[in-house]
Amino acid sequence: NRTGVVHPSDLDELSNTVMPLCMRNLHVNFKADHHLKHWGRLQYGLFLKGIGVMLEDAINYWRSEFTQKMAMDKFDREHVYTLRHMYGKEGKRTNYTPYSCVKIITGQAPGTGDHHGCPFKHFDGSHLVKELKSTKVPNPAIQEILKLVKDQHFQVACSRYFAYKIGPLPENVDVPLINHPNGYFTKAIELNN
Ligand code: SF4
Repeated sequence: NRTGVVHPSDLDELSNTVMPLCMRNLHVNFKADHHLKHWGRLQYGLFLKGIGVMLEDAINYWRSEFTQKMAMDKFDREHVYTLRHMYGKEGKRTNYTPYSCVKIITGQAPGTGDHHGCPFKHFDGSHLVKELKSTKVPNPAIQEILKLVKDQHFQVACSRYFAYKIGPLPENVDVPLINHPNGYFTKAIELNN
């Protein structure tokens, strides 16, 4: 095993345990649709880079999903460059960083067929409740989260979600305020171990 490297075959499990809701949502829909639109590709792709998915593994993973609906040469033409670009291997070779919560919350809102964004900010009430139920958050906690969302405390709502998903937290550990999906992930891994 390469230290600090996440393999795509682990993503199903990680999405159920230690990924924040925004990335779980992208993961689940990517697997279901075998496709992600532009902002979803960026939000999820950069998150995966940040948690330690290597470029070659990312290309193979995306290829195996996308080509269930798209010809191989079309995928290679349209998406390999984007992935390489995300990893700083093309163009200006910028080392793009994964998006923060503020960037996701205040960024382009998802339209039809989009799965990017922050569920606490962008899902309507019934969609959010359904999503929280599917991740086994207990009902009183769902009500608490909905109240925070109504008051536009999206990141605090995410922190409450963290506390229920990852918890119960040890007494000496405060619930972290979530300000980055990759920070959520790192903290969740740390507390899960
Ligand atoms: Fe993702 Fe941040 Fe929203 Fe949590 S608050 S779901 S980490 S964007």
